[in-house]
Amino acid sequence: MAAYPVTDTLGRPLRDLRISVTDRCNFRCVYCMPKEVFGRDFVFMPKDQLLTFEEITRLASIAMAHGVRKIRLTGGEPLLRKDIESLIQMLAALRTPEGERPDLALTTNGTVLAQKARALKAAGLDRVTVSLDSLDDTIFQAMNDVAYPVAKVLHALDAAEEAGLGPVKVNMVVKRGLNDHDILAMARHFRGTPFILRFIEFMDVGSSNGWKMDQVVPSEEVLSRINDVFPVEPLEPNYRGETSQRWKYADGSGEIGVISSVTRAFCSGCTRARLSADGKLFTCLFATTGQDLRALLRGGATDAELADALAALWGARTDRYSELRSASTPPRKKIEMSYIGG
Ligand code: SAM
Ligand code: SF4
Ligand code: SF4
Repeated sequence: MAAYPVTDTLGRPLRDLRISVTDRCNFRCVYCMPKEVFGRDFVFMPKDQLLTFEEITRLASIAMAHGVRKIRLTGGEPLLRKDIESLIQMLAALRTPEGERPDLALTTNGTVLAQKARALKAAGLDRVTVSLDSLDDTIFQAMNDVAYPVAKVLHALDAAEEAGLGPVKVNMVVKRGLNDHDILAMARHFRGTPFILRFIEFMDVGSSNGWKMDQVVPSEEVLSRINDVFPVEPLEPNYRGETSQRWKYADGSGEIGVISSVTRAFCSGCTRARLSADGKLFTCLFATTGQDLRALLRGGATDAELADALAALWGARTDRYSELRSASTPPRKKIEMSYIGG
């Protein structure tokens, strides 16, 4: 067996595993699963192609032996996967070689969070991140494109906090001309609350969201708009490779973050691997192909063989798409975020 933990060709260790548990979603966010592409005729993965909870747990356990300490469940909408609490329970029972449990988080659109928050916490989930792109119902409903109201997401946020799934983070993808006029309203709303609001630059993931550079609102601009009204100061990162740059309000009314995937690439500290719901492992959000671990699992591979395959894949990793991205980057067929997991 290869020596663990593994590092890639740029010396980056494997620390985080994002697991997509389904490619389905009850939203059709215009920047992620636009209706024109993900319409009635769209064919999602058949059930028998999804990794079972046992298969996911087995791979997660091997990834932890390689260095993974944080696991995030995502999708699609992860809370739509039936009995997700059981998977959380199985993952929470895993231990690192030092005997520690993994840090378990989940990203959700919040639609079924209020009813599940307590059960998720009881199963062993540590934290949730909830996506909310606007406080303006007209804009939010147009962005999720299924007329889902803001009030229900706000209710889910409270339920998650009460259930002990905090600090709850709130993700706002900012798209120029669509919801950028809402930046200040969002900042004002979440100031002085336990929620940590994070502004995400609209990214060119997948091939269906019609991304253009001029639709990106650079984090610097977001910060300057907020700083003009509510002065902010930088905070130290929580750990190496943190995607979000942290800021605090100078008057002590809380923390915000910016995720500058486009204007300030963080590939040099990128320690994330992504596992799709059908068992392909991707070493970059912008990868075009993934390694089919399900074929190995279902082909009878031993743990040692799976461990070697993962070590070989990570050891050969050269990815740094965002650092290399430029206007001259030729368009290529990329994997959709709802498939690979955000
Ligand atoms: N359905 C869940 C949700 O929306 O929270 C989890 C999956 S979603 C793909 C994960 C995160 O990716 C969300 O916060 C979403 O806003 C973000 N996202 C999706 N498409 C994006 C894009 N093109 N640019 C930036 N962020 C994006
Ligand atoms: Fe669904 Fe999340 Fe994508 Fe929106 S961002 S369509 S909620 S997977
Ligand atoms: Fe990591 Fe790829 Fe994103 Fe760079 S572009 S930060 S390597 S996922």
